[in-house]
Amino acid sequence: MDTTSLYIHIPFCSRKCLFCSFVMAAGQEHRREEYVNALIREMKNEAGKKLKSIYFGGGTPSMLDEKHLDTLMDAIRNDFSYQNDIEITIEVNPESINYQKAALLKRNGFNRVSLGVQSMNDRYLKFLGRGHDVSAAQNAFYVLREAGFDNINLDLMYAFPGQTQEELEEDVRAVSLMGSEHLSLYTLTIEPKSRFFAAQMKLDDDEKLAEHYLLISHILNEYGFKQYEVSNFSKPGFESEHNRNYWRGYPYIGLGVGAHGFTGRRRYWNTSRLQDYLDLMAQGKDVIEGYEDLTDDQLIMEKVLFGLRMNEGIPWTLVPPAKAELIQIWIHGGFLSIEKGYLKTTDRGRLLLDELSSRLI
Ligand code: SF4
Repeated sequence: MDTTSLYIHIPFCSRKCLFCSFVMAAGQEHRREEYVNALIREMKNEAGKKLKSIYFGGGTPSMLDEKHLDTLMDAIRNDFSYQNDIEITIEVNPESINYQKAALLKRNGFNRVSLGVQSMNDRYLKFLGRGHDVSAAQNAFYVLREAGFDNINLDLMYAFPGQTQEELEEDVRAVSLMGSEHLSLYTLTIEPKSRFFAAQMKLDDDEKLAEHYLLISHILNEYGFKQYEVSNFSKPGFESEHNRNYWRGYPYIGLGVGAHGFTGRRRYWNTSRLQDYLDLMAQGKDVIEGYEDLTDDQLIMEKVLFGLRMNEGIPWTLVPPAKAELIQIWIHGGFLSIEKGYLKTTDRGRLLLDELSSRLI
């Protein structure tokens, strides 16, 4: 039987961070039960499939309480089959976790937690409009450890306007010293739906950001993190199965408001307004707002583009003949390399990957 990954979107947040452009809903906690019931109904469309990873993203999935988590996980166990050692991740914000909640997550089968730390500098946490400070982030991490989580990702953000090299270095060292198994790196971007965009926030120049990116990978390397994707670093053996599944172009189911899914041929996305999602589900209607069927050429190109994000690269045989000449030029330029029949992005190429990708399309 073919396997697939499962993504479940939980949009609830206690407040909106100033950089946020995700599908989220602040102050809507009273709708959690209605939402969980809608998710369970949507899940029925996919029942019977075999899963290879499960990911609860948001929003703030850790805002679900005991009853919601028990009900959702029961439904997943009933509707799908999967191996006992499947990776089950949940995103957690420092302010929404305590020992009791961490133990509840553990009891419900979650074995990987992604903690939204973002920075170990209180001034920048305030700047981002986060609902926690550094000590809350540290406390959340230790509470998770105490509850038995031995696979924790920390999110780290950089590229704050005016951030100095010293501040960045301090931040990366502080987050590394916490001792997590995985680290996801986010560059601050100003997205149209964010409050930073409304405030016309300006970012520092690309040259500085490229230097900072190289500094981060260098420091993370010192602390035993190995880069396996442009923005993801892990201790050996702790690469995220779920995310690797996306980058390898494998199928995944997306459930919930704003969720995206991929069948292996069709990419689809759900309505991104919570009210619409709940209304459509209540009326027994389809919540898929749009889809795109990819051609064979598009599928190959996606595999190439996503594959080049990963350090493992892609087999050279995957490269479309029409693109081979351009790729050879980039190999000579030091942006890509070939190792044992695999095309890989070099450190230099990683800095320009978005640019290279757009020229490949
Ligand atoms: S960044 Fe995350 S926690 Fe902050 S508002 Fe957006 S979804 Fe919620």
